[in-house]
Amino acid sequence: MSILLKNVHLLDRPEDERSDVKVDGGRIAAICAAGEGAADGWEADEVLDCSSKTLMPGLINCHTHAYMSLMRNYADDVPFETWLFDRITPIEDSLTADDAYWGNLLSIMEMIRTGTTTFVDMQMFPRMAVQACADSGMRALISRGLVGQSRSDEAAKRRLDEAFDEMEYGKTIGALCDFALGPHAIYTCGEDLLSYVSDLAAEKGMRVNIHLAETEHEFRSCIAEHGLTPTAYLEKLGLLDRDILLAHCVYLADEDYALLARPNVHVVTNPASNLKLANGFAPVHRMLKEGLQVAIGTDSAASNNALNLFTEMRLLTMGQKGVTKDALALTAEETLEIATANGARAIGRDDLGRVEEGRTADLVLIDENAPTMRPLYNRKAALAYSASGYEVSDVLIEGEFVYRDGEYTTIDAERVLFETEKIAERYR
Ligand SMILES: [Zn+2]
Repeated sequence: MSILLKNVHLLDRPEDERSDVKVDGGRIAAICAAGEGAADGWEADEVLDCSSKTLMPGLINCHTHAYMSLMRNYADDVPFETWLFDRITPIEDSLTADDAYWGNLLSIMEMIRTGTTTFVDMQMFPRMAVQACADSGMRALISRGLVGQSRSDEAAKRRLDEAFDEMEYGKTIGALCDFALGPHAIYTCGEDLLSYVSDLAAEKGMRVNIHLAETEHEFRSCIAEHGLTPTAYLEKLGLLDRDILLAHCVYLADEDYALLARPNVHVVTNPASNLKLANGFAPVHRMLKEGLQVAIGTDSAASNNALNLFTEMRLLTMGQKGVTKDALALTAEETLEIATANGARAIGRDDLGRVEEGRTADLVLIDENAPTMRPLYNRKAALAYSASGYEVSDVLIEGEFVYRDGEYTTIDAERVLFETEKIAERYR
């Protein structure tokens, strides 16, 4: 289907300039000054007047666990270790694949509703995530969470086999999903298993998705056990030579920055989750100054407790300014880059993350009549500082509407709410 978005405002054009954007075959086929496309005889199956809309690239949530929205507001105001091991893990262990399907869809609803078009996931039930993506039209990079000591560990082997099965399954149902290897963390995976993942990633050309240096306890324990910081430990195991996403990196030693400043390494900061679990605030300002690549994620709804990248961007930029006492620590423009183009690079999809001709059409329309968008002095500032996500009116993924005029086009929202409430009844 081809779509013509007429008279729309683009973020990288002057505030008073309007453009026409043609979407065809899942791509941004052409962009021109408003009205000029008509002169060139542009035609489209659908023409939308976007006179009161801003068009922006879909946001990319580079770290979450989508099925965990089932545990939103279930374990709050408790320390990290209690939260993870006493409250969350027992529920996780009792979830069925069917539960996970509905949890994934609930998360996808929230992400689409707030302008996210791609998410990076670490899953217990990857098949259900793939299915939820296929059914909703959502894009994702999915990894199966791996735990275990060594490559001969039965549970680790089973999880890896499952992960490779899911990849095949994803291809057969046409889901917009890529796959990564997902060793959970250095404290849940042994040295041999991590080395094995590193070898597998090189052999198969896959990305690695891991939590790193999230807590002070993890940082100190790693030094005590291995004589290395978590970052240096990953370097020793060869993992920093792979295309890798490192969620958190709250605790970095001075010498860690140089190890992380390479084009294949992507730090994914999760400001709300780190704050809520009382783990601190990642030094993103310094990371950027030292040449690290930084993307952003929400982490799960069990620790955030939302999957909303607008509120996450606001927290990130304001937090960096506050912590560094530097109002320029992270500008609105840099913050938007982190949530779009940097995210695209982190997942190896340079065709995403910008509104430019030839790129894949993962796009979000913002209602400029929302009070938070007025007066319209500066759209980037409005999106990074004022917006809460509920200014999103329409969302396209690969050129297809998944949210249109405030309605889901692919998801039966009432059914998802009904099913997730039914699951929650078991845990009340
Ligand atoms: Zn996580």
